[in-house]
Parts: sequence; C-alpha cells; structure tokens
Amino acid sequence: MDPANYYRLPWTLNDNVLSWLEPTKKCNIYCEGCYSTNEHDSHKTLDQVRSDMDVFTAKRKMDSMSIAGGDPLTHPQIVDIVRMIRDEYNLKPVVNTNGHAMTPEFLHDLRMAGLHGVTFHIDSGQGRPNWKNRDELELCALRLHFAEMVQREGGLSCAFNMTVYRDTAKHVPRLVRWAQEHIDIVHSMVFILFRTARSREFTYHAGPKEVAMDEVIYYDQEKNPAPMTTPELIALIREQEPDFDAAAYLGGTKDPSSFKWTLVGRVGTPGKDGRVHGYVGKRFMELIQTGHHFFAGRYLAYSDPRLLSQGKAMLAGFAPVDAGVRRAAKDWVKTVARHPGRVVQALHFQSIAFIQPIDHMADGEANMCDGCPDMTVHDGQLVWSCRLDELKRHGTFLSCRPRAAEAH
Ligand code: SF4
Repeated sequence: MDPANYYRLPWTLNDNVLSWLEPTKKCNIYCEGCYSTNEHDSHKTLDQVRSDMDVFTAKRKMDSMSIAGGDPLTHPQIVDIVRMIRDEYNLKPVVNTNGHAMTPEFLHDLRMAGLHGVTFHIDSGQGRPNWKNRDELELCALRLHFAEMVQREGGLSCAFNMTVYRDTAKHVPRLVRWAQEHIDIVHSMVFILFRTARSREFTYHAGPKEVAMDEVIYYDQEKNPAPMTTPELIALIREQEPDFDAAAYLGGTKDPSSFKWTLVGRVGTPGKDGRVHGYVGKRFMELIQTGHHFFAGRYLAYSDPRLLSQGKAMLAGFAPVDAGVRRAAKDWVKTVARHPGRVVQALHFQSIAFIQPIDHMADGEANMCDGCPDMTVHDGQLVWSCRLDELKRHGTFLSCRPRAAEAH
C-alpha cells in the first residue's frame, strides 16, 4: 500500500474526531492480554468524570466521546455519564462495551440519556461465559444478536471491534463478508491488530530501571513472534474481495509511511444476494472531513445512522468528484439494468477501520498514531490510552532499548 494513494486524515492532538474516557477499570469478563480488573473501587465519581471532561474540552476539539474502561456498563452511573457528555459537553457519547451487561431496557435508558452509538467488542480471545471456545465465525451469531437489539431500539450507530491475532486473521475476510450481509444494521467494523511486546529485540525500561518482561503487560513476542500489519491483513481480504481498498489513513509519529489507522468506506445492499457496489476513494474522505469541519467546526467521527442509508444520494453527490464513488455508481447502474426491481432498494454506507497499535523503530523509538484519536486523561494531561497502563504501573511511559546495542 502506497500512502500517496490515500487521504492522510487531518486529525491532530488538539483537533480530532474522538477522545477516550475511562470512567472505570472494572470489567465483567476477561479478555486475552487485557489489564482491566474486576475491582469495584475503580469506578470514578461523577465529579471525577466531569474533571476529566473539563481537561478534554480545554485541550482538544472533538466530535464524539468513546466511553470505555474496563467495561463502562459496569459503572452504576453510566446513564448519568452519557447524559453529562451529551447535555453538558455537547458531544456524541458512544459506549465501547463487551455487551455482556447489555439488555434492551438498558440500551433504551442509555438512548434516552443521549447515547449516539454502541461499539461492541467481540472476539474469540475473550473469556465470555456461554461463548467460550467459539471461533470468530461462530461469534457472528452474538454480533447479530446485538446488531438487531440496536436496530430495534432505533436511531443508534452500531459498530463491532475485534482484536485480530495471527491465528484468527484467516477469519477476517469472512467477517468482512458478514458485515456486507448486514450492511443495513452494522454501520462499522473495526479490526485491531494485537499488540505484542518485542522482547526478542528490545529490553523495556522505566526511566533508568529495566522492567522484567513479566511486568510488561503486553503479549510477549515468544507467544506472537510475528505481529501482523494492516497492509498484510488488507492483502488477505483482497484475496477474497479484489476490489477491497482503503480511502484514508493516519501515519505514524516516527514512520510516516506506516498505516496506523486505515479507513475503508463502501456502499452496498444487505443479504446473501446483496453486494458491495464499490469503495469510496480519497476525495470522498477529504470532502467529508474538511466539509464537516468547515460547517460544524470539528471533524466527523460517527455519522447519523439515518444518513448512512442514503447511499443513492451519496453516489449522486460524490460521483463527480471521487473516482471510487463513480465506480460504485456505475456498478449500481449495471445491477439495476439487470434487476430493475432493485432501483427502489436502499443503498447503505459502511465503514471498516484497521488499527495497528504501537510498534517500534530499530532504535527502540515508539511509532504511535500521528494524530491519535484515542487520547485519554491522566493526572490532568492527555495521554495515549493504549499506554495508560504503563503510567499507572510504572509512573512513566516505558522506553525500549535494542538488545544488540546493549550487548556492546
Ligand atoms: S496511539 Fe495508541 S491509543 Fe492512540 S489511536 Fe494509536 S493505538 Fe490507539
């Protein structure tokens, strides 16, 4: 993948799409490699949450707030937190949950409080009661259960996150196909590549002190010798779906040509007889981001789900300026020529994102997402949420030193 072919997303530290609020560290299931706990006393009070929100809004423009954790649904005042984010801070609240505690009644209360959407984290690395030892494809039944619950409630955005391990990557092309089959109710899929400590190449240090590998919470390289990259995963999807292509990306802070966040947008119809008509290109993403910023003063994170089913208007509006949308429009016209009844069928927009977490340069420097959307607050400062645990355990971010250099 050549970065020149994609739109470099304009997100920065102080002007971004999202931020990442952690009102609790408590979780109700255990996921492979996760550092959250089952402790009740990690819940923040509403005043502490408000204080974090004040830091976010003083330091950063944003469109949405990801409410994560731990699992945010374990927080006894999660409905009040959602209401606070919507009413006091005028942001779109989106809960990032494993869904274990989600019920239709709970979802309704959250929507009444101003919830914009739900991102369900579901994958086979989770110790999820009643769903143990299921592979990624079997878990699609659970994904569909939640997607239909969100659809019945109405008016909410629905996304699914999945952590991708090297041995589960083979299922990703089928999940991408599953997402098309439910493109009318699944608005977004996010594939997060599993993070691995590079213990064969580096030693880890908190200031001058070396940290033993069993104190580094990330999965050890012995268990995952060759972490995947986003271009590798996209190449795997293309074996099944040759037209699959990204439109936009975020580079790395040290390696500008790395694909740290990669966004795909596509238009299609649901069902096994449905199809993806095409993939939007870089001009579409550029116009959406800059246009939204021009009119609303902030970059767009989550669209209104009602707009996502206006695919035909989107094709008409963007075909003159975007080559990918033009190809999708032509494919739709050909399909309608063969099956005239489909002219009345709604077309849906769906996004697919890939996140490649922290990786390292040869000298040990960390390559982070350049314009990290998932910044959180720690001690009144914005910090990378993926490395919050380093601060909490060691009081500082860990640094890496190449083993070869140490030997000299
Ligand atoms: S830098 Fe870390 S927290 Fe920020 S987006 Fe990348 S992986 Fe997520």
